[in-house]
Amino acid sequence: MRIDLHTHSTISDGTDSPTRLMMKAATSGLDVIALTDHDTFDGLEEAQAAGQRFGVRLLPGLEMTCHIGDRDVHLLGYGSRPDDPALSKELQITRASRLGRLDAICQKLTEAGMALTTQDVRGAAGSASSLGRPHIADAMVAKGYVEDRDEAFRDWLSDGKPAYVPRHSVALEEGIDLIHNAGGVVILAHPWGRGAQQVLTPQVIASLSAYHQLDGIEVEHQDHDQVTRRMLFDLGGRLGLVRTGASDYHGSGKKGHELGCNLTRETAYRELVTRIQMRGGILRVR
Ligand code: AMP
Ligand code: FE
Ligand code: FE
Ligand code: ZN
Repeated sequence: MRIDLHTHSTISDGTDSPTRLMMKAATSGLDVIALTDHDTFDGLEEAQAAGQRFGVRLLPGLEMTCHIGDRDVHLLGYGSRPDDPALSKELQITRASRLGRLDAICQKLTEAGMALTTQDVRGAAGSASSLGRPHIADAMVAKGYVEDRDEAFRDWLSDGKPAYVPRHSVALEEGIDLIHNAGGVVILAHPWGRGAQQVLTPQVIASLSAYHQLDGIEVEHQDHDQVTRRMLFDLGGRLGLVRTGASDYHGSGKKGHELGCNLTRETAYRELVTRIQMRGGILRVR
């Protein structure tokens, strides 16, 4: 079985619609896909319907933006109930805060000589229900200010760059509890990518596992080199964590993250499904 448990669609910052994503999953020979859009469940029904047409199973997921101190960390949640009141309220606050900071970022870019309006960004975001910096980057590309998303992040949008503006997110521990209480299982997304090992040390991961029943960690990810993957695999093994692998596919929005470039072993997937069932989560939407 070929299983890819981390992908994005146009409902957040991917460039393929949920339907197109599932179609591509089929042509890429994948059997199971988790759609994990940022802070929203809105693409799941469409993806599930398309999956039925194309013969690809959908595992309902999300990628939740959380923080440790002043650093963003991402959680992958699988099988949580989209209508859970506490989780959906929190996601709604995060999405609203994404909109709120849009004004401030546009203002900073405009002051820096790159005139940009929230309307430009909304145009670039199309049907997305979760608006992110990648959409701002797309609007900058459309205006000819930068070459691609990478350049926009590198020079302007990343933390510490001139147009960076923080936004709301929940503390990591709270995010884990919210997903669990909604019936889902929780995997730390790319835990040692982009310098995140500074906050997600082995000690921190061990304590998340002991005190918050963290279910697992994403090991096989493009942000992890071979040495990192081996260390995370061993750490996860010692802590009894489920170890996953996935592409973090964003369509043409992120280079080098092709569908199926990393995979999750069938035993790990089965373990996640069992835990979702035990927690009272969902394996199908609606
Ligand atoms: P936000 O959700 O607004 O905080 O933006 C974070 C998103 O930007 C994450 O989904 C990342 O995948 C994406 N991202 C970060 N750096 C880059 C980059 N250099 N190129 C494209 N996307 C990026
Ligand atoms: Fe993203
Ligand atoms: Fe992420
Ligand atoms: Zn992602």
